[in-house]
Amino acid sequence: MEKRKIAFQTFGCKLNFAETSTLSRMFSPEEFEQVTHKEEADIYVIHSCSVTANAEKKTRAAIRHAKKLNPKSSVAVIGCYAQLRPHELMEMPEVDIVMGNREKYRLPGIYLNNDFKNLIDVDDSNIMKDMSYKSAYSSGDRTRSFLKIQDGCDYFCTYCTIPYARGKSRSSNIEEIINTASRIGKSGVKEIILTGVNIGDFGKNHGEKFFELMKELEKVEGIERYRISSIEPDLLNKDIIDFVAKSSKFLPHFHIPLQSGNNDMLKRMNRKYDREIFSRHVNYIKQVMPDACIAVDLIVGFPGETEELFRDSASFIKSLPVSYLHVFTYSSRPNTKAENMKEKVPGNIKKERSIEMHDISTRMRKVFLESQKGKTGHVLWESNLHGKYMQGWTGNYIKVKKPYDKHKVNTIETVKLEKLNNESFILE
Ligand code: SF4
Repeated sequence: MEKRKIAFQTFGCKLNFAETSTLSRMFSPEEFEQVTHKEEADIYVIHSCSVTANAEKKTRAAIRHAKKLNPKSSVAVIGCYAQLRPHELMEMPEVDIVMGNREKYRLPGIYLNNDFKNLIDVDDSNIMKDMSYKSAYSSGDRTRSFLKIQDGCDYFCTYCTIPYARGKSRSSNIEEIINTASRIGKSGVKEIILTGVNIGDFGKNHGEKFFELMKELEKVEGIERYRISSIEPDLLNKDIIDFVAKSSKFLPHFHIPLQSGNNDMLKRMNRKYDREIFSRHVNYIKQVMPDACIAVDLIVGFPGETEELFRDSASFIKSLPVSYLHVFTYSSRPNTKAENMKEKVPGNIKKERSIEMHDISTRMRKVFLESQKGKTGHVLWESNLHGKYMQGWTGNYIKVKKPYDKHKVNTIETVKLEKLNNESFILE
């Protein structure tokens, strides 16, 4: 029988990418030929995201686009949007299969048995109790891999749907993760990005600690660099920061969600820390690693964010030695506490605040990049061609470009950062 062409498209977080890659490896190359989602395929698997209304809109557009590429194709939608509102997706005439976050790994079997019409396989009956865990890591990128170490979340921030889509906080164990990291190392990949939903919460269901995991990962042969994809402020601590400062493998690059610089707003969001804790972490990082990169998530326009509270938040953020911001405009999510909160911020005000915070971020990034001029960076060169250039990232997450040299792909080179062009350094 002729191989069927299958294409995967992923939206959202690094965890989704690790899981899509794992799922794609479960489709046997004897039966299936993998093509890109821009090509005509017999099967399209779309890994959805539901973190904002815009993410869902992109998922629906991708579904329509897939069916346009091949009207006879089968379209399967998996991931958080599928988990939270399967019927809404199945109402789309283009959709054939909708699978929940646990059920998605049954897809290869379903396509092998060819029984794939109007199938919804989403069991949300006990998603809040289920502790089953599926490991995952991404492959196919020569230089780095997303390694899943944790899933789910018990924090229930008032704006967030993820706990309802991914269930309770749970994780694999240190031994299993070390085995996977070794396997990734043997494949020639040099950098691992630790990913999950709330990775600092690693081990909550079995007693091991994230800090212990870091120490064991440091010993894995073949892997030269680790990035912590994101860590909650209340789970970051002096031990972790000191370990990164002394480590030859854990990179001085922190991504820490703050969400607001005002304590009243943090309470309304049900966040687990106040801004004083956040500021202490950031300043301690800069004390022990002055060149560290610190990226901060921020939400603007959350219900109740008056002009005064926004001003207070903005001035606190401007006082922090952080490198840049990820600015999100508050997007009301179904079934969250914030959905029913009063004092909604009008759309035009949200827009103005987003523009203002983006400007602050641009200025912060410029200061950070300028501070690196004349310094040394260790760049892991990637394989993609960008015009006549190749690019790579330093340990503290600075983009560097140089004329393409295929012998340098997937090697780590020590370079001098001198010529800054927009947001990357150029080596001639
Ligand atoms: S920590 Fe909060 S924002 Fe992050 S996944 Fe959990 S509930 Fe959502």
